[in-house]
Parts: sequence; structure tokens; C-alpha cells
Amino acid sequence: MSSKKDIADIANKIRNIPDFPKKGINFKDITPVLSDIKIFKKAIKQMATPYMNSDIHIVVGIESRGFIFGAPIAEYLNCSFVPVRKPGKLPWNTEIVFYELEYGKDSLEIHKDAIEKGQNILIVDDLLATGGTAEATCKLVSKLKGNIVGFTVLIELEFLKGREKLKSYNVHSLVKY
Ligand code: AMP
Repeated sequence: MSSKKDIADIANKIRNIPDFPKKGINFKDITPVLSDIKIFKKAIKQMATPYMNSDIHIVVGIESRGFIFGAPIAEYLNCSFVPVRKPGKLPWNTEIVFYELEYGKDSLEIHKDAIEKGQNILIVDDLLATGGTAEATCKLVSKLKGNIVGFTVLIELEFLKGREKLKSYNVHSLVKY
């Protein structure tokens, strides 16, 4: 099966929800991808395949939909999984990075011992929008001296130019809007 056909099948399962969670946001609902195991498997394969020969040691998944895709991608690549979480959720010593939102600030955390210096890291999320979340995660991984091999997402909202924040990294997305 060609990857073009796979990606078209995945795109057909992404549901647009206008004005959710607030007016003006066109929310990309990925739950129909998850509820069809054939499509879910295709998504995992297509997100992971460019990194098959990259000797990835750890998949870092971003809370919360990055966990849903990140854990099976780690299994697919036969490597470990590390969660990056919203503040106050991780139980042990953490590194923290603050980042700007449209209105206000947010932060993300990772366990201090989650990555060893020089390990090859693949970062996973469901969607790249402005790139703030991805950039903050790259900073966390860099604080722990991980080697960021790539960032893979199911969906990219190209008009928000998230890639510009991630210029020094390899970014792979399946479905682009
Ligand atoms: P950003 O930091 O702007 O790149 O936002 C990326 C994060 O916000 C991802 O973890 C997404 O899950 C979520 N997100 C942003 N915009 C949308 C959207 N239109 N539909 C669904 N999720 C979104």
C-alpha cells in the first residue's frame, strides 16, 4: 500500500470541530483515527517510518495526545518512552520550561533522569500549530543533553508557521492544512 493512499485514508478520519474549545478555533478531532485500528496502525507506521534507521533511543511524548501516538511509536521503533507533562503531574525531580501562549504563560516538565547525555530522541505530538509546545519540549530535551533527531506529528497547521520555531530540527507531519 502506498504511503500516499495511507495518508489520504488518515486525513479522511480527521474530524473538524468549528469553534471548539472556543470561538474561532477549528479543532482537529483525532478520535476517529484512534477508533479505527487499521487507520491508527497506518498513522503509527507513517509517523515512525522516517526514523526506522535513526537509532532512536527514546520517544518523548507530549501530554496528552502525544502519549497516545508516542507509546505505540516507541514500541514500533523498539525504544523507550518518556512523558513530557503539564506542571505538577510528574512525581520526581523535574526540569521545567516556561513558554508564551497567546494569552499568558504555560510550562512543561520532564523527569531529570529521563534522558542520558547524547541519547537519540524522537519527539511526538498529535498536532503542530504555533510550535510553542514543540519548542518548549525541544528546550527540555536539550537541557538534559538529549540529541533531538526529529519531531513527528499527525497534523500540521501550516498557516500557523510552527516549523519556523523548529528550524534546526527535522520535522515530519502526515496531514497538512
Ligand atoms: P502549539 O503549541 O500552538 O503548536 O499547539 C500545539 C498543541 O496544542 C498540540 O499539543 C495540540 O494537541 C494542541 N492544538 C493546538 N491547536 C489545535 C487544534 N486546532 N486542534 C487540536 N489540537 C490543537
